Amino acid sequence: MWQKTFEVSKTLKVWSQLKVNFVSMSDRVRNIAILGSTGSIGRSTLDVVAASPERFRVIGLTARSRLAQLCDQANQFRPHWIVAADAAHASGFEWSEKPSGAELLLGTDGIRSLVSRAEVDIVVAAIVGSAGLTGTWAALEAGKTVALANKETLVMAGRQVMRLAEDRGAKILPVDSEHSAVFQAMEAGRRRDVKRVILTASGGPFRRHTSAQLAQVSVDEALAHPTWEMGPKITVDSATMMNKALEIIEARWLFNLEPDQIDVVVHPQSIVHSFVEFCDGSVLAQLSPPDMKLPIQYALTYPERCECPSPKLDLAAAMRLEFEPPDLDRFPAIGLGHEVARVGGTAGAVLNAANEAAVGGFLEGHLSFTEIVPACRSVLDNHHFDDNPTLERLIELDAWAREEVTRWVCT
Ligand code: NAD
Ligand code: MG
Repeated sequence: MWQKTFEVSKTLKVWSQLKVNFVSMSDRVRNIAILGSTGSIGRSTLDVVAASPERFRVIGLTARSRLAQLCDQANQFRPHWIVAADAAHASGFEWSEKPSGAELLLGTDGIRSLVSRAEVDIVVAAIVGSAGLTGTWAALEAGKTVALANKETLVMAGRQVMRLAEDRGAKILPVDSEHSAVFQAMEAGRRRDVKRVILTASGGPFRRHTSAQLAQVSVDEALAHPTWEMGPKITVDSATMMNKALEIIEARWLFNLEPDQIDVVVHPQSIVHSFVEFCDGSVLAQLSPPDMKLPIQYALTYPERCECPSPKLDLAAAMRLEFEPPDLDRFPAIGLGHEVARVGGTAGAVLNAANEAAVGGFLEGHLSFTEIVPACRSVLDNHHFDDNPTLERLIELDAWAREEVTRWVCT
């Protein structure tokens, strides 16, 4: 009897200890560093953090140019470190509003230093463009969990980035809404039973434009997205549908899919964020109103879920969900995305940099909307393809492709 009681009490003790450990692991406040905190994704991340202060603590913030906004954020969230990514900008700024408890770091070295601090649990990679590579790379090198919004990193160096994450035991969790949807739907089955993924695309503001109308669109029209509020670069990418091209390449690396397993369907309401089809023909989707707070929060709480400050879906309200195939003639970027996903090697870095330069040129009035994709095609066709490049080679090609676009514009 004594023996039995002892066994039971021992079991209870172990169980209660396990419970204590379990509770403390899952409820432990997660320390978050946000790269690009003044941008659209950065601000939405701060909204998520503000709604659940018992779960998240902001430990680091970075920005390039809006340094007054960075100081406001630092005063509200009290991080240990803030990084001004552009040292020249920082030296001309009056830092009197910076909270005294926050240490100021500078430049890409500052970003590298921030993401590798022992106190950081999760790095939100929300810098726009290939400039996001350095911070993401350093975070993965330090074995951190990265909530990845910066898709350009995977477009540019998907093979190298995924290999690094594996070598260092670091996790990459998708923030891009389509990839978050695929990630969530994939949890319903075995990875080897996935037949294909179908990425949804809003179609952007010019879904019904003729080719002639597309040639005339203005910068303001391209910046007026019908369903999503985003930074200017990704908004133009959505209008050309280059965003979907980049997302095909992102999905190829993130989920280790063959490019022909990735399809695109236009869904103007942006409620269904993507589908996964399994080998038995079952198709799973993730639905929610178009708001980035939900995919951001899922990347921060994974594998748990909790109340989210994003709008909720009301299926009882009158609602239409439409789906149609993309028009590959009017939106040739999608074909380019599939092609680059198939050939791999240096093609992703060249496409990504050419697109960044061409979008920049369009926003500054140097080339028209319909010249963006042909400029990318031309630079891609003229580069020396290498099937297995080093990271250094990809960085060189990033600079080369930008110069090529400038040359293309001037000829
Ligand atoms: P944004 O332009 O609103 O913000 C960009 C942020 O990056 C700012 O904080 C800026 O200071 C910082 N930054 C810019 N250039 C930098 C540089 N050279 N060095 C360091 N910091 C720099 O962009 P966004 O819309 O928030 O998009 C951020 C990333 O998330 C992009 O890769 C985009 O493709 C991806 N994404 C965005 C959305 C969205 O809804 N906005 C959705 C999915 C994916
Ligand atoms: Mg997306």
